Amino acid sequence: MAATLSLLNSGTSTNLVEPGETSPNASAGETIYPDWFLGPRKDDDGTMNEEQPGREDLIRWRAAKPSNFFRAIPQLASSIELRMGSPLSPRLEKELDTFGRDVALVIEPAVDVQERNREFPKLHSFDEIGRHVERVEFHPDHDVASKASWGSGMLATPLSFEGAFELAAQFFLLSHVGEGGQACPIVCTIGLRRAIEHRASPEIKDRYLKGLTDTEATTALRGSQFLTEVQGGSDVGANVTQATPDAEVPDAWRINGEKWFCSVADADLFAVTARPVGAGPGTKGLACFVIPRSLDGTTPNGFRLRRLKDKLGTRSLASGEIDFENALGWPIGPLDEGFHVAVDELLNTSRWLNAVGSTGIMSRAYLEAFTFAQHRKAFGVAILKYQAVQNELARMKLETSAALASTFALTGLVGKIDEGTATKSERNVHRFLVNANKYVTSIAATDVVHRAIEVLGGNGTIEDFSPLPRLYRDAIVFESWEGTHNVLCAQVHRDCIRLGLLNDINEWIAQELSHVSTTFDVERSHVVDALAALQPGVSESLAKPAGTDANFRELLTGLVRVVQATCLLREASFSNMDAGVAAASSAFILLHLVNQEFGTLPEWTKHTAAILIPSIPRGAQTHPQM
Ligand SMILES: Cc1cc2nc3c(=O)[nH]c(=O)nc-3n(C[C@H](O)[C@H](O)[C@H](O)COP(=O)(O)OP(=O)(O)OC[C@H]3O[C@@H](n4cnc5c(N)ncnc54)[C@H](O)[C@@H]3O)c2cc1C
Repeated sequence: MAATLSLLNSGTSTNLVEPGETSPNASAGETIYPDWFLGPRKDDDGTMNEEQPGREDLIRWRAAKPSNFFRAIPQLASSIELRMGSPLSPRLEKELDTFGRDVALVIEPAVDVQERNREFPKLHSFDEIGRHVERVEFHPDHDVASKASWGSGMLATPLSFEGAFELAAQFFLLSHVGEGGQACPIVCTIGLRRAIEHRASPEIKDRYLKGLTDTEATTALRGSQFLTEVQGGSDVGANVTQATPDAEVPDAWRINGEKWFCSVADADLFAVTARPVGAGPGTKGLACFVIPRSLDGTTPNGFRLRRLKDKLGTRSLASGEIDFENALGWPIGPLDEGFHVAVDELLNTSRWLNAVGSTGIMSRAYLEAFTFAQHRKAFGVAILKYQAVQNELARMKLETSAALASTFALTGLVGKIDEGTATKSERNVHRFLVNANKYVTSIAATDVVHRAIEVLGGNGTIEDFSPLPRLYRDAIVFESWEGTHNVLCAQVHRDCIRLGLLNDINEWIAQELSHVSTTFDVERSHVVDALAALQPGVSESLAKPAGTDANFRELLTGLVRVVQATCLLREASFSNMDAGVAAASSAFILLHLVNQEFGTLPEWTKHTAAILIPSIPRGAQTHPQM
């Protein structure tokens, strides 16, 4: 026994109970014997072709993983139906069903091959005979993933109310593979398309819109957006890249300067902020240009790719440093509105879709962890039977549900703005949420993937065992993209002071809560109380100079949690929504808006079992067994 205990204490085993003892986590009276104590392993006697105990469970886990992410997440369809105000059309349902399967069966394996074999983009500055080309080479599986992603049609969705939902739904499904070398190019292309469609001259529209909305990956034009310079990404007003009118080409400008973070370095069109000669300092003096990669189809248009960055995450995406030397570009919109073009069209699109992407990452992490917990045994039972594991999974699911709920509420506002029916107040709510929701959901994504890794135990940290390490790295990068947390919080603080956004958001919450079913009267009163409790602190913060109060970050987190709780309650009140969302909303409110006592199981966990009951897959008749 002494030898056994010393082995246990040395950390070489994860079974931290003495053989024959009752595990503290096992059901009452159940005696647990670790497998290794019971006798020699099957492979110890030379029969190496026999399966180890436990491997069969892993095989079953892999077989149980969803083969269609659209069917696996029924909340997606119901969130869309709630916010769109109508059932999914048969066309859209079929499209999402097909793409949900393609993401699982085509895109995921293609992304996985690149990551597992470290097949990341490579830079070739010169071709085989020494000509300057600045070509980025990808693994062939990158093209497989691109073909399926572009083929979904998401780049061609109309800028309309329904179009916003279609795009968000497809992008949510795609993000179940993380960034995957596809999400960033798609977001940048959509942002550039929106900028050109809304702001550019008819000539620029004629030249580029067809390519930007092409659904064939091999012929489509890919966009990118370069704002960040080495002196800072948050402080875009410090940009020193210069623009000078071209002496010969009408309406064209020559761009000179260095951009420090250039994702989609392989893009066909670069959207670039630069300061026209003679323009003033700060963001007011910035213009926004579109620069084609090449003017003749081969030779780089006045740029050098210094190097591709070796990144923590989003590794199959080519992110580089680029020097522009007399690159020929054309303005998108009036020169003195460049910063507005960059924020309203590029960054706001990216921030909205960043939240959609973070939600997809969370959803995938939950699916991985839940199916694993169903099949993985520890101390003789499936780990899903342990209350502590259930609580982790429930926590992950309620964060995912909340992010889906708030992000599809935001999608409805994007859609209304796109179709021109948004009121001034709805525009203000959009302005608040597009920043605040990105901040909260991107942090939640990292947290949820982290919890999923914990559920998988040591296996969760292994690169080829599951996609979780990749999702974790991507989620951290999503946090810094399109504005860091502090910068977004400072932006909302400024907007609340200058534009009075708080009144709009308070009214919007009240309006949303008025649609909540009386079944949730208790939960609704918790939300109302939490919002009221936040008001004095928020008012005090907003009395300080715009963008300066460090306390505002915590207050804003609280406001977003109130928004998410409200959105969840609306979803829970929707007739087509499954019971898991109702339980998630109650638990979310207890977890985030009602104080907890230490030393007891938190009150929210009383909803754990109801949260975890698998949702009815779309089209199925009954609940599958847990
Ligand atoms: C993989 C990757 C790809 C990228 N691709 C692109 C791209 O294609 N195009 C592009 O334009 N950019 C890109 N970026 C850059 C990204 O947008 C910036 O990293 C981001 O905007 C932050 O800028 P920064 O890194 O210079 O951080 P900094 O601005 O130096 O900030 C550093 C820290 O200081 C904090 N901080 C800054 N200002 C304030 C303030 N006023 N109050 C409180 N705290 C503050 C920030 O929150 C942050 O924590 C990419 C980044 C990564 C990681």
